[in-house]
Amino acid sequence: MDIRDKYDRVIDYMRISVTDRCNLRCIYCMPFEGIRPIGYKSLLGYEEITRVVTIAAGLGVRKVRITGGEPLVRRNLPFLVESISAVEGIEDISLTTNGQALKRHARALADAGLKRVNVSLDSLYPERYREITRGGDIDEVFKGIFEAERAGLEPIKINMIPLRGINDDEVEDFGRLTVNTSLHVRFIEFMPTGSRDLWSWDRCVSTEEIKGRVSKIGPLLPVKIRKSGPARYFRFEGASGVIGFISPMTHHFCESCNRLRLTSEGTLRPCLFSETEIDLKAPMRRGSTDKEVERLLRLAVQSKPERHSIPSEQHVDYLKPLSKIGG
Ligand code: SAM
Ligand code: SF4
Ligand code: SF4
Repeated sequence: MDIRDKYDRVIDYMRISVTDRCNLRCIYCMPFEGIRPIGYKSLLGYEEITRVVTIAAGLGVRKVRITGGEPLVRRNLPFLVESISAVEGIEDISLTTNGQALKRHARALADAGLKRVNVSLDSLYPERYREITRGGDIDEVFKGIFEAERAGLEPIKINMIPLRGINDDEVEDFGRLTVNTSLHVRFIEFMPTGSRDLWSWDRCVSTEEIKGRVSKIGPLLPVKIRKSGPARYFRFEGASGVIGFISPMTHHFCESCNRLRLTSEGTLRPCLFSETEIDLKAPMRRGSTDKEVERLLRLAVQSKPERHSIPSEQHVDYLKPLSKIGG
């Protein structure tokens, strides 16, 4: 069974934000003072999340990504991973993390059924990394990646956001990482979210420009990765790793969109760029049946827009911070 939206896209992927809290304050994601987190009671509980996943799996969702905020600051995450991996139909569970606490949790997460991790890393220089994340320790990220590899959470994907004048001089170094390691490096265009002071068109480095820069290392050969959603992948000849581009600002490949987002507050967000959200938490807490929750899931799928309008010089909509939506 699969579920298709109005534009005949198969929706088989759910991103789940388990918290809007974070142990870092990346300059592109949050203001210096952070963002007031929602109260514990407003967070969807692990049993509630598992219930939503079970109903979604009945509709054809096969892949789940756990994100946040920083998912590893939520207690007992392996318990949730184990519950989700026991859901019939779920074939793949992955996690997006800043890596600060990955070393401690990688093994337990893998044992619970986690398959892969994406690690956000925006500089290879310790001091610059600390500045971008406002306090992060790059050694912890490297130790986390190493431990995740040992636990078999591969391929490990690195998410890097090039910011002009801040870290864009490292684009080629990140590209080179894919030559001798099996890392997947994904370059993400900077989006106008929580960090209004930092975002500008000039600060955002387009996929086209990044591609041009990494191509200096060697020609990029297209790689077909099944169900890659709105990301596009390439590799250098003979390289073990892969380079990906995610281009929300210049070309988001919405025609291959396959996802829904479940926020930490228990709403379904049909599209990253649309403010529409459908509340699941209140009906579930009022005692809704699985049939009713299923109806709301179907409604979210049917509410997916065909595409988001690519922002222009004249018009930019600022999004809620990704820590709130679930990046
Ligand atoms: N805390 C975890 C982390 O940093 O990996 C997971 C949540 S974070 C919101 C998920 C992803 O969103 C990260 O890879 C981060 O780089 C990305 N992100 C956050 N703000 C962004 C922005 N303004 N533009 C593009 N990507 C952004
Ligand atoms: Fe935290 Fe991730 Fe946002 Fe950085 S990008 S502040 S690590 S939620
Ligand atoms: Fe899907 Fe919306 Fe992202 Fe387009 S912008 S790929 S429709 S979530």
